Amino acid sequence: EEQNTWQAVDQYLIETLVDEDEALAETRRSSSKTSTPGIDVTEGMGAFLGLLVQVSGAKRVLEFGTLAGYSSIWMARAMDDDGAVVTLEIDPAAAAVARRNCDTAGVGDRVQVRVGPGRDSAQTLIGEGAEPFDLVFIDADKANNPHYLEAAIALSHPGTVIVVDNVVRGGAVLDQDSADPDIQGIRTLLEMIAADDRLTATALQTVGLKGWDGFVLARVN
Ligand code: SAM
Repeated sequence: EEQNTWQAVDQYLIETLVDEDEALAETRRSSSKTSTPGIDVTEGMGAFLGLLVQVSGAKRVLEFGTLAGYSSIWMARAMDDDGAVVTLEIDPAAAAVARRNCDTAGVGDRVQVRVGPGRDSAQTLIGEGAEPFDLVFIDADKANNPHYLEAAIALSHPGTVIVVDNVVRGGAVLDQDSADPDIQGIRTLLEMIAADDRLTATALQTVGLKGWDGFVLARVN
């Protein structure tokens, strides 16, 4: 029942405030052609990520977990023409779908989709001496969150914003003995952030279309 109200309110807020064009709507539908359909961020979270790009003035964005490109498109559209999104995806089918969706959405020239395990692609970026990123969105397999955080810091500069999605998982994050590697990945990530003088961070819970969850917002000092 509570869940129904959260969903109805989220729906109302999205209808009232969030403009989703046909390219974004089609991007969400097209996640059915990937190996993990339907796990893109909500319209409200997409708009929030776009706003974060704008308020932080980010010109270079790194994303772990592309799926069909939904969040990539929101962030890329929030940037100027000279902005760049590098997004890392393990599923080749998803990467191909995302590539097409970014082109259709008019941000194809700004989005680079790199196929492969996120840890490897991030190491490649570090090895290439990639320019630091202004904003990093971590939204891939949660078990690897600790590695993604390390890579994000290695590819950051003072002021870089790091967002990590799905850190509450309906409250499952509380279970310190969880056998779920995703939960352990989230808990380790939170402990790493707390222990790291290079980061200032908080986490906020959310309720809505995707139930009860939350995200970390961190800044590299
Ligand atoms: N950020 C996307 C959005 O909101 O539109 C949603 C990403 S979805 C939650 C997670 C994605 O991470 C899936 O497409 C999945 O294939 C990908 N993924 C899973 N394991 C991965 C890994 N080891 N490296 C890179 N990507 C991975």
